[in-house]
Amino acid sequence: MMKLTIFFLLIFNFSHAVEFIGDFKQGSFILGKTDPKSVVFIDNRKIRVSNEGFFAFGLDRDRKNNVLIKIKNKNETKVIEKKVFKRKYKIQRIDGLPPKQVTPPPEVFDRIKRDNKLIGKARAIDSKLVFFKDKFIYPIDKYIITGVYGSQRILNGKPRRPHYGIDFHAPEGTPVRAMMDGEVTLVEKDMYFTGGTLIFDHGHGISTLFMHMKDINVKLGQKVKKGEIVGTLGQSGRATGPHLDIRLNWFEVKLDPQTILK
Ligand SMILES: [Zn+2]
Repeated sequence: MMKLTIFFLLIFNFSHAVEFIGDFKQGSFILGKTDPKSVVFIDNRKIRVSNEGFFAFGLDRDRKNNVLIKIKNKNETKVIEKKVFKRKYKIQRIDGLPPKQVTPPPEVFDRIKRDNKLIGKARAIDSKLVFFKDKFIYPIDKYIITGVYGSQRILNGKPRRPHYGIDFHAPEGTPVRAMMDGEVTLVEKDMYFTGGTLIFDHGHGISTLFMHMKDINVKLGQKVKKGEIVGTLGQSGRATGPHLDIRLNWFEVKLDPQTILK
């Protein structure tokens, strides 16, 4: 780690240089730094660069192709191609669920559509905040991890969408803290799948999402500090028991929250 830090500092002192923190593997959050005047493209998508030269992006769970990072300065364009390492995901079987929990009834389709639209809108925010460059913290103190990122779910014997969060099992009512400074961009008390739901914007498309909350102590647009209590753990929405499920997003790409906690 020490070695990496020194290396990082050295590299950052050259202008036009670019360096990354994070592993180029499926599901990873990656922090980059370059000359603040650079224009940066990830897979031909132009992304925001902070006044200090920081930028952020992430890699999808099933990413197979190499990542193309293009750094444009006045007269030169540097193209970096990085291989993405594959991960092996767990298979999680959950049996004996009520059929309604596996396949939602048609009467809730509109509600689900509305929920997804609101979540998508909050995740699409591209703000100037640069909190993503700092160290994130765990949202609760005492927990048992009962679900990890990427696991393929087989519910009542049928393969379903992978699980994209980390599940922290703890007693109902356990205080839940913001993992990083940010702005609250979604507050919903009762979404169909996710129940009490919060989204925090940490800048440049990096957001964290908490679900199944019992109480919520924050308001839309509120600025929060890392470690601030934002509500309590619950089992609202489609939850099999009290737990907090946290998500990390780079816009529409769902990342492994573990990769921002390291
Ligand atoms: Zn979960």
